[in-house]
Amino acid sequence: MSELAYKRTNVYEVADEKLMKEIFDYAEGYKTFIDAGKTERETCAYVQDQAEKMGYKPFEFGQTLKAGDKVYYNNRGKNIYLLRIGTADVAKEGIRILASHIDSPRVDLKQVPLYETEGIAFGKTHYYGGIRKYQWATIPLALHGVVAKKDGSVINVKIGEGENDPVFYISDLLPHLAAKQNAKPLGEAIGGEDLNIWFGNIPYTSAKDDKDKTVKENLLKILNEKYGMDEADFLSAELSLVPAYNAKDIGFDRGLIGAYGHDDRVCSYPAYTALFDANSDKHTVMVVLADKEEIGSEGTTGMQCAIFTDLIDEIARSFGVSSALVRSKSKCLSADVNAGFDPNYPEVLEKLNSSYVSCGACVTKFTGARGKSGSSDADAEFIGYLRKLFDDNGVIWQTGELGKVDVGGGGTVAKYIAKMNIDTIDMGVAVISMHAPYEVISKADLYEEYLAFKAFIVG
Ligand code: MN
Ligand code: MN
Repeated sequence: MSELAYKRTNVYEVADEKLMKEIFDYAEGYKTFIDAGKTERETCAYVQDQAEKMGYKPFEFGQTLKAGDKVYYNNRGKNIYLLRIGTADVAKEGIRILASHIDSPRVDLKQVPLYETEGIAFGKTHYYGGIRKYQWATIPLALHGVVAKKDGSVINVKIGEGENDPVFYISDLLPHLAAKQNAKPLGEAIGGEDLNIWFGNIPYTSAKDDKDKTVKENLLKILNEKYGMDEADFLSAELSLVPAYNAKDIGFDRGLIGAYGHDDRVCSYPAYTALFDANSDKHTVMVVLADKEEIGSEGTTGMQCAIFTDLIDEIARSFGVSSALVRSKSKCLSADVNAGFDPNYPEVLEKLNSSYVSCGACVTKFTGARGKSGSSDADAEFIGYLRKLFDDNGVIWQTGELGKVDVGGGGTVAKYIAKMNIDTIDMGVAVISMHAPYEVISKADLYEEYLAFKAFIVG
């Protein structure tokens, strides 16, 4: 191939011993991180803890920031901002922003979840984000979340992760009796109201009243003993069912990692570790770990919340400059995953423009669907800037589009940030089986993403 032609680079094909060691060592920290936080709340708490260890202090609105300050803002326990104030003039250099999300598709309990039928107690659910429902049946599920009591106390719930913990379950038909279900389209085989959680089947036989000798009553008794809660407390609870298994290396050579919620924690981890490790105090850097991306970035903890620009306003005010000016000079990598090319399903992915596992960090110019609709479509000039930055820093990277034209599509937080007059592009890691209970990524891509973020922060 001539020097004029473009070709992707497979990281594992070119990595020397030193790089291979760095890739594999970095992956271990990531596996610890992804197992420690399976919900936005848990990830938020974990990252706050890591930030405090690195000297970050809580930020309060009204506080004046100065060069060298390292602060965090924990928004309602579900969305966290890390800010490091640099020595460069924010009116000239703006802010370097890395934005990823820490919510992942899952199955949430409804507010009145409990019922009993035929001697079995179940929990009703409403799924969160885009899931393929059949994938969530017959796998072990753990219950994570909070119960907010009337007295203002909040109970943390996490059942199913300990070695001796029970897990929860969504049933499916046995093949012997599934002929009719098998004939349905895959997306209709299991309906939204069929995702009922198996909660128990031992009745409360020692109840005084015969009508209380039920499985549901026994369940309420257990919940009351363990958490001091009653059935009405579910009304003010956020409880989620997530896969009850942890990250593992995939394959004989261990080059890949399987885990729940790579989308988008595989970008969150490199974002905040790049901030901690970047060897420069020049630029002001903001790392956003957002909630609610999977349901449209809405609400107080989603990327569309004004808190994002409010924090930029606070930085601008601290230096007596206009927030509009700071935003106009800022740059953002919307750190989110891309659909990696899966040779088992080539019909939905276009070979030239897909991202490939182990071919490095993936830049996605536009997302959207049907004619790029709903995408912020980054400027060529901004990609030109990043090309030089990444190439000069030896980052192995590629580009990727989410599937063939008109097959489907998707979106990220990029458009909400771009709307604020900030140059923004999506950059992330190729994921196989995105939104499945167990997704797959490459250790090499995770590490190249980290190198790319470091270069972006320093450059
Ligand atoms: Mn995502
Ligand atoms: Mn997603």
